[in-house]
Amino acid sequence: MADVLTPEQRSFNMSRIKGAHTKPELLIRKALYTRGFRYRLHLRNLPGRPDIVLGRRRVAIFVHGCFWHGHNCRLFKLPATRTAFWTTKIDANIRRDKAALDSLRRSGWRVLVVWECALRGTTAPNATGTFKRVVKFVEGNRKLLELRGR
Ligand SMILES: [Zn+2]
Repeated sequence: MADVLTPEQRSFNMSRIKGAHTKPELLIRKALYTRGFRYRLHLRNLPGRPDIVLGRRRVAIFVHGCFWHGHNCRLFKLPATRTAFWTTKIDANIRRDKAALDSLRRSGWRVLVVWECALRGTTAPNATGTFKRVVKFVEGNRKLLELRGR
């Protein structure tokens, strides 16, 4: 098939490819790093392989793409084709995320989930506000927090 995607379409498709280094994740990492926090990335020995781990503070951070992780928000739209395939796949991701989160919490980890829509799209709060809430979570003692767009 001929390559007929515009750069915008290609960029959109690429944004849907599950990658370890998504842009929202890089933003969160940078926000933490510039404030002096040090962390490890994608630790395979932890449930769900959290994107960012601050071991001493026992904090695991997931930066979830709203499509892949089936977020109930404006960024999520089930594709019109192969709908059953996507539904099955995304449902499995949701179950896996839930299991990982429960398992981490049982082991005493504090878990922060930052949804893509907290940083991207028309419903996003301003990024600075999101970063402040991330830092507050890391420094505090809350056990669980999700940050999302409206
Ligand atoms: Zn979302």
